Amino acid sequence: MRRPLVAGNWKMHGTRASVAELIKGLRQLALPSGVEVAVFPPCLYINQVVAGLEGKSIAVGAQNCAVEPMQGALTGEIAPSQLADAACSLVLVGHSERRQILGERDDILSRKFAAAQSCGLVPVLCVGETLEQRQAGKTLEVVAGQLGSVIEELGVGAFARAVVAYEPVWAIGTGLTATPQQAQDVHAAIRAQLAAENAEVARGVRILYGGSVKAANAAELFGMPDIDGGLIGGASLNADEFGAICRAA
Ligand code: 13P
Repeated sequence: MRRPLVAGNWKMHGTRASVAELIKGLRQLALPSGVEVAVFPPCLYINQVVAGLEGKSIAVGAQNCAVEPMQGALTGEIAPSQLADAACSLVLVGHSERRQILGERDDILSRKFAAAQSCGLVPVLCVGETLEQRQAGKTLEVVAGQLGSVIEELGVGAFARAVVAYEPVWAIGTGLTATPQQAQDVHAAIRAQLAAENAEVARGVRILYGGSVKAANAAELFGMPDIDGGLIGGASLNADEFGAICRAA
């Protein structure tokens, strides 16, 4: 059985003071033991969050990493080895905001994915279509292309130690959520694509849904057979709401 994962992506939000408040709220949560919980603060606050959550079973991840695993001359970037040194255990790769706003391409993302794994971090590969692509009937093709490029570069075995997050771009921060069936259809296609190469890897990999998940819609989404948890944006900035979403998994 796959252990559900609920992860909070704080994006570019927070100040030292608001992060301290959020840590306080997270520490008070009663979290279900069967669910893995993680938060992804801005890099600047990772040390604060790791220290603040000591003893609480919430993993800490980064929202991005460098294409090279080890520290070196690469101005402005943070090496996966440095994230591991800071006690991060996960890293997001290819969030749609980075693909769209910063132009991160599939080949760059495969390098980040591999660099993260080589330092013992678990990459969370984010995939998803835009509204235009969905309306053109291209959802499965787009997602298969994003996933396929990593499989092609690194082999399907790389997904034995990775997570996939399906986040339809039109559902992110818009209040529009994919219906559980819409999400399930894409999740099933992702698993089938992996299964075509390695059934065991496909059975074990966790596929998260992200895009306007809230306490009110989480249980329905997480109840679908191929949805193994969520990647939560806005709602993860409120500890009580985030806790309720974790309990729905
Ligand atoms: P929202 O939950 O704010 O829609 O964001 C989803 C997301 O992008 C998480 O990575």
